[in-house]
Amino acid sequence: MQDTNQIYNFPDGKRYNSFVGYYKRKYGERLQKLVLDAGFTCPNRDGTVGRGGCTYCDNAAFHPNYSTPQDSLTVQLDKGIEFHQVRYRNSDHYLAYFQSFSNTYASLERLNELYLEVLQHPQVVGIVVGTRPDCIDEEKLDYFKNLQEGNILKGWKRKLTSQTIEAPIVTIEYGIESCYDSSLLRINRGHDFDCARKAVQMTHSRGIDVGAHFILGLPGETRQMLIDQCEIVNSLPLHSVKFHQLQFVKGTKMKAEFEASPEEFLRYDLDDYLDLIVDILERLRPDLYIERVAGEVPPRFVDKPQWGLIRNFQILHLLDQKLETRNSFQGRLMPNKPE
Ligand code: SF4
Repeated sequence: MQDTNQIYNFPDGKRYNSFVGYYKRKYGERLQKLVLDAGFTCPNRDGTVGRGGCTYCDNAAFHPNYSTPQDSLTVQLDKGIEFHQVRYRNSDHYLAYFQSFSNTYASLERLNELYLEVLQHPQVVGIVVGTRPDCIDEEKLDYFKNLQEGNILKGWKRKLTSQTIEAPIVTIEYGIESCYDSSLLRINRGHDFDCARKAVQMTHSRGIDVGAHFILGLPGETRQMLIDQCEIVNSLPLHSVKFHQLQFVKGTKMKAEFEASPEEFLRYDLDDYLDLIVDILERLRPDLYIERVAGEVPPRFVDKPQWGLIRNFQILHLLDQKLETRNSFQGRLMPNKPE
């Protein structure tokens, strides 16, 4: 087999198209995402689409302590910047990450107020908006297009290290979770896969970068199903993907379901999971950025951490080793791979 870098030349000597470093390569500096909670709810909780939400959902488990809707967005941004400056590498510029619940689930007028508030912050250079595929429409997408083309915030500018940008960076992230309608139904998702496909296509057609989130191992899903869905993922005009292992958060319906019927769930230890990720990467198109391969729920939300107290960066290191051992790389099993 040829050396991976002779085939696709993935950045940083990786064997997959890692999203880490993407902003640095594109904008000349690291852009840190700051998670915000803008106080949205979700149509799958308030009765519009459903009640009770997706069976695995406890949003508190998925966002950091510095973001709480009691604080204004500006205060959350300042706290987030302080948090990152104390604990991690220093960044000069940030992306406001609307992560909690469904961040397009409001009138366009309200959304505009929220997005413009964060874009007034001198260190914020763009927004990343996480939402459900059924919480988007042509009007909202036209708004995002206009925002990223500089038609909404006239005169807005941010001076980065090596360039000045005159319009905010905009990315939309959809929770797709599975390409199988049977899985979406079973987790009470409240939309089908066709809804997700349409949302991704409508967003991409406006030149907006689209990310998607998938959960690996929903009840009833087999390893082969997860491998087979790569072809569907490849067919979507996505810019980046995030994969998470299924985590059983205390108090969720999913946890109760697992306790009642564990045989319905694909179980994997960390090594099996890394093999699954490699099987998936081998079948994904090489231009698709891989933003995450595992999730990290704070230990207090689970009875027992699935794989001990391992952090994401350690999992990524093990993934590098696994790819090396298997002498494999993203896209290895794609048809039409260059020789
Ligand atoms: S769509 Fe998101 S916020 Fe709403 S219930 Fe599902 S996981 Fe929770």
